[in-house]
Amino acid sequence: MSVLNADPQCIFCKIIAGQIPSRKVYEDEDVFAFHDINPWAPVHFLIIPKRHIPSMAQVGQAEEALLGKIMGLAPKLALEQGCEPYPQGGFRLLANTGDQGGQEVHHLHFHVMGGPRPWLRG
Ligand code: AMP
Ligand code: ZN
Repeated sequence: MSVLNADPQCIFCKIIAGQIPSRKVYEDEDVFAFHDINPWAPVHFLIIPKRHIPSMAQVGQAEEALLGKIMGLAPKLALEQGCEPYPQGGFRLLANTGDQGGQEVHHLHFHVMGGPRPWLRG
């Protein structure tokens, strides 16, 4: 069900399908998470829905459960991946949306970044 609307041109749909390799952090029937190929921070991974949703601009009430699941996973995965505990540690959760929002890959994704500073960016 979750990959029925995969976009054949989409790099993240290809990662979900295993057609492009990635360093997987987590997977379930709805969600996939993998390390960012170009990390800004000591910990930097992306959480994405398996369903191809282009961005937060396409999110509505029908996606509430899916987004709630992703928000619930973020702190758990952040700690598992080496982010230090709140409040001294913590992490940044970011969803760039649209060109002016700085989005480059148009498959909804949440950046999770953390670890000791300084970071490369941000
Ligand atoms: P954004 O600018 O929010 O669209 O971020 C897209 C992110 O995807 C960037 O941080 C890229 O480094 C990352 N990225 C692009 N291609 C890959 C890939 N094949 N594997 C892992 N991360 C990727
Ligand atoms: Zn996609």
